Amino acid sequence: MDKDATLLGRLEAIVGRQQVLTSDADTAPHLIDWRRYFQGRALAVVRPGTTAEVAAVVRACRDAGTPIVAQGGNTGHCGGSVPDASGTAIVLALTRLNRVRAIDVANATLTVEAGMTLAAVQEAAAGSGMYFPLSLAAEGSATIGGNIATNAGGTAVLRFGNARELVLGLEVVLADGQVWNGLRSLRKDNTGYDLKQLFIGAEGTLGIITAAVLKLFAPPRTQATAFAALPDPAAAVALLSRLKRALGDRLTGFELMAALPVALSRKAMPALPDPLPGHPWYALVQADDTAPDAPLPTVVEAALAAAIEAGEARDVAIAQSGEQAKALWTLRENIADAQRQEGPNIKHDISLPVSHIPAFIAEAETALRAAFPGVRFVTFGHLGDGNLHYNLSAPEGTPPKDFMTGTAAANRIVHDLVAAHGGSISAEHGIGQAKRDELLRYKDPLEIALMKSIKATLDPAGILNPGKILHRT
Ligand SMILES: Cc1cc2nc3c(=O)[nH]c(=O)nc-3n(C[C@H](O)[C@H](O)[C@H](O)COP(=O)(O)OP(=O)(O)OC[C@H]3O[C@@H](n4cnc5c(N)ncnc54)[C@H](O)[C@@H]3O)c2cc1C
Repeated sequence: MDKDATLLGRLEAIVGRQQVLTSDADTAPHLIDWRRYFQGRALAVVRPGTTAEVAAVVRACRDAGTPIVAQGGNTGHCGGSVPDASGTAIVLALTRLNRVRAIDVANATLTVEAGMTLAAVQEAAAGSGMYFPLSLAAEGSATIGGNIATNAGGTAVLRFGNARELVLGLEVVLADGQVWNGLRSLRKDNTGYDLKQLFIGAEGTLGIITAAVLKLFAPPRTQATAFAALPDPAAAVALLSRLKRALGDRLTGFELMAALPVALSRKAMPALPDPLPGHPWYALVQADDTAPDAPLPTVVEAALAAAIEAGEARDVAIAQSGEQAKALWTLRENIADAQRQEGPNIKHDISLPVSHIPAFIAEAETALRAAFPGVRFVTFGHLGDGNLHYNLSAPEGTPPKDFMTGTAAANRIVHDLVAAHGGSISAEHGIGQAKRDELLRYKDPLEIALMKSIKATLDPAGILNPGKILHRT
């Protein structure tokens, strides 16, 4: 029997024959990424149901020297969750690890398995009268394991931080199949190196996350959602500062959108509202208070009225119901999918000091217009976190595929400017296989060397998601 057949037999013995998928029909959805940019092949898609099964699968793959690509909801944006084209790897699909292990309301913690969707985690928290604040448009299919492995951000980072800030403990299957039980639920623990931090944001290259202890919070009981029309990005930054001063940490979200992404979102979903037509820029503002009858709407209204007075906003619309608030959020969250429907575009997920964003946008638009006449800017993002999705679409009449040939040149213009402004080439989506070369170009060589030595220590045989974040050595 050849090596692959022996491994497949061993994997079937561990997880059961039905959980080892090999037919094209069964494996196809696992082999292409959400954006449909990265198509891979695999020996099999393996679906373990417990941590012990994950550990046994990892041991079998280690013995065979077979690469393992961890996969949650396969919604990542950098090709990290799909294998390369060699067909030698297995995809380790973690969605059957979907149980709540424990909820401790007094300690405000929730222990869940990695394959639970983010939406299911939020529901589990709400079911106990608590709140898990991580939120992003893909939460119905993205898993908490994938969120942690990519250190996901989303729409409430301004108040609650990235996934990293929300994790107290992890259970991880290491590259040799040992299970590290780091499921601590402590807010203070200074007992040496904080090992869980290594696995958060490591995109499946250092270990397989099988469970996590998450921080919970009191749920919001008074909410205010507003949509503001703005003259330019400088006004958006001024409005953000004003709202921070007025609301403190009750300001949970501040999303910036240019007119084009709003129009694309409505084109894809015509039932969505068009609250303030005819302006170049918009902000979506979310404020929350845990007190049931806080005067939050009054504070938000007063701050926005003062912003209009100061020329920071041209007009505002305040949601009058939960439905209206939801529709405004859908208008924002539908942008990624709307863009996907428009065809390929050149994406940049960048972060900058918030104060630099107006200058960056002005400089980048000048340089890109000169290089790509007619280029369309689909600029939106989590301005409150200094995070822009700075995406470029083909000029009207140019086939998107032709425009994509300019990706490397566009990346150079955008990322050089990001570096000049002290920013990051990946704010929240990670590196995967999409940005490995850019990482090498912009990261300090000493940091790359440290990352390589951590990889070599934790995964000496290089079987965990090889070729992701760092090139294979
Ligand atoms: C419409 C849409 C909106 C989005 N909005 C945001 C946003 O606002 N903010 C944001 O940060 N991201 C956003 N994303 C991208 C985001 O990174 C992913 O949605 C999510 O965090 C990944 O979860 P997943 O389960 O789909 O992981 P996958 O895509 O399956 O995997 C992502 C990476 O994590 C690794 N991985 C997955 N599970 C594990 C595990 N258990 N152990 C170890 N490694 C693992 C994979 O190998 C891969 O490298 C969006 C995506 C979509 C489609």
